[in-house]
Amino acid sequence: MSEAFPGARLTIDLGALADNWRTLAALSATSECAAVVKADAYGTGLEHAVRALAGAGAKTFFVAHLSEARVARRVAPTAAVYILNGLPPGAAAAYAQTGARPVLGSREEIEEWAAFVASAGEGFPAAIHVDTGMNRLGLRPEEARAMFAGGGPGFRPSLLMSHLACADEPERPETERQRALFAELRALCPETPASLANSAGTLLGRTEGGDLGFDLRRPGVALYGSNPIAGRPSPLKPVVQLEARIVQVRDAAEGEAVGYGGAQRLKRPSRIAVLSLGYADGVMRAGGSEDVSPGAVGFLGETPCPYVGRISMDLIAIDVTDAPDGAARRGAWVEILGDHVSVDQLARACNTIGYEVLTALGRRYERHYVG
Ligand SMILES: *Cc1c(COP(=O)(O)O)cnc(C)c1O
Repeated sequence: MSEAFPGARLTIDLGALADNWRTLAALSATSECAAVVKADAYGTGLEHAVRALAGAGAKTFFVAHLSEARVARRVAPTAAVYILNGLPPGAAAAYAQTGARPVLGSREEIEEWAAFVASAGEGFPAAIHVDTGMNRLGLRPEEARAMFAGGGPGFRPSLLMSHLACADEPERPETERQRALFAELRALCPETPASLANSAGTLLGRTEGGDLGFDLRRPGVALYGSNPIAGRPSPLKPVVQLEARIVQVRDAAEGEAVGYGGAQRLKRPSRIAVLSLGYADGVMRAGGSEDVSPGAVGFLGETPCPYVGRISMDLIAIDVTDAPDGAARRGAWVEILGDHVSVDQLARACNTIGYEVLTALGRRYERHYVG
């Protein structure tokens, strides 16, 4: 145990991360599997994640910002690193110097990159993003058609990509519409590799109209153990384990209230353990428990221990009444995320998605990397 006596410890299983990438890569024999590592590799630590993923065989990475691309390029110098959030004005030379590839999603960005390439020479790859139905980033389909009809972007793109909006709900018809539109647009530049699928698209594999894999798939959240298609069995391993230390254990009587606002009253005489982490550590306050709405559940060994009352900034109370004698004691560790509590289960209890639970993981933990 560290000298710092941390309130919580976070264990990242890089072996499970690498296995998840291999599992996703093996789903298609014809489409390369990239790795999306934006937002500090979904909260798991960019540098460690890129090293593990490159070791497993990933050759293409996606980040959101230049600062992230710099880290990825340093750790994996031969990898292709794309920057999803496009090209800020005046950034082309800095991108090129880093060896990072912008994902260009507007005519202004494409013109700026074309001007840079015209002065600096070819050999600076970039992707073009076309919007097939999300209205977030990317050229509108008619803009893309006009650009390709008018002689192209002014440089040779290394990738044509689009992003799926609804693939996590397999019954939605939008995914097939996006696939068909993307197939039509990619036919305008058939020599350019194409990419459409995120984690959900990678696991879906295809729609009734055709394959979602194209040349390159871009899974993110699935790498980190979250199941992108709720309700379907997941082939992915948990990557993140979060445990919190018990600060104190106390007895409280039936009818007493616990925590701020007295939002939960005890229905029986209870033993309450107070844990040394809170919403400042990324456990969202919405995961607290009130009389009218139960919250998240932690695990003390094999015993499920429901959260009691509201979550504080630095503390969470759990009900350990049902734990075996002596298990709930000062200094003992309680699982917040891990083999018993998936990222998606905690997310559901907090009224959010696994992505937010992962990227909110706090900075005060003692971090361990294993595997
Ligand atoms: C974040 C992101 C991904 C990865 O999405 P997941 O749902 O995490 O797999 C892929 N492509 C783009 C454009 C993204 O922004």
